[in-house]
Amino acid sequence: MSTLIANIAQLVTLDPAEPDRPIRTGAALVIDDGRVAWVGDAAAAPAADTRIDAEGAAVIPGFVDSHSHLVFAGDRVDEFEARMAGRPYTAGGIRTTVAATGAASDDELRVRLRHLAAQSRGQGTTTLEIKSGYGLTVADEARALRLAREVTPETTFLGAHVVPAEFVDDRGAYVDLVCGPMLAACAPHARFIDVFIDRGAFTVDEARHILSAGRDAGLTPRVHAAQLEPDAGTALAVELGAASVDHGTFLTDDDVEVLAASARAEAAGGPPATVATLLPLVEFSTKQPYPDARRLLDAGAAVALASDGNPGSNFSTSMPLAVALAVRELGMAPLEALTAATRGGARALRRTDVGHLGVGARGDAVILDAPDYRYLAYRPGVPLVRHVLGGEGLGR
Ligand SMILES: [Zn+2]
Repeated sequence: MSTLIANIAQLVTLDPAEPDRPIRTGAALVIDDGRVAWVGDAAAAPAADTRIDAEGAAVIPGFVDSHSHLVFAGDRVDEFEARMAGRPYTAGGIRTTVAATGAASDDELRVRLRHLAAQSRGQGTTTLEIKSGYGLTVADEARALRLAREVTPETTFLGAHVVPAEFVDDRGAYVDLVCGPMLAACAPHARFIDVFIDRGAFTVDEARHILSAGRDAGLTPRVHAAQLEPDAGTALAVELGAASVDHGTFLTDDDVEVLAASARAEAAGGPPATVATLLPLVEFSTKQPYPDARRLLDAGAAVALASDGNPGSNFSTSMPLAVALAVRELGMAPLEALTAATRGGARALRRTDVGHLGVGARGDAVILDAPDYRYLAYRPGVPLVRHVLGGEGLGR
């Protein structure tokens, strides 16, 4: 079954095979059996089984949201209101969601998760990473990942989200639980392992122990670091070959250089870079200062944008809004922001088949209600996603 998308004003392919031509005008696109089969001048487009008229709109790759926490029950809207009135964000609020999630049935969690995943797709997200982290017991962490796997292949074990209340006097016992029985139960349902490094969560030494155990179990590390203050999480992430270091609100000059060196090593034929994944919706929703994307880009680091959709520090899953904030507040040009939200996210998930519309990629495309992709930043908050093609099972 092939589909021709015609009458495209601006086709943003971001095809890595054509680095000098990320955007085409007067182009058309054919998707066949879920893959991009043809890209070229509209006048030369081949016949296809069906035709979609883009009506003079821009077409972009679907967003790759490489960071979310969408398996949970309850909400923390009261905490949000208090924060807007001046109370600072701390990691401790996570335990509120852990209690609500533990009390919910599988079906309650599933219905909420599917609704949130469908909302993400409705805003143009076609690849979505989902973490556990509101279970914090062997059974509930494994349950969260089993449910997440029903909507996406991109799942991350985050048993090390916070130390549960019953372990605060014996943190070592919780770390042993995460590295032992919990990891064994969760690894079959996950691709990645993550640790929240923060004063209110886990230390760098604990993270090293947990991520190393995960790596030995076949999972790829990723890290939450430098969200609320500088820490040694970025250096640890690069040392362990992590796919990404996420937040990066308080990166030091040394952190930026370590990330840039990892990107240079990849370009020279080395292992894949550790991607700096920026989450500006969190800064928006916690009134924290925004991270400096310009510094990372100018240094040559690999940069992604993701939502970090979660009930505490940010309950927006809108990648278009993340793009708008990146342009408004992080110092990114519109094309840099769109690239970070698509190809950057793919890189952070170690995927080459999503995040662009080169021939052979998944046919995950978004037809905007706009003639130019820059409208994503130019018209923030306006529903510019008109039609989504593809999307790895999200809400379909
Ligand atoms: Zn997170």
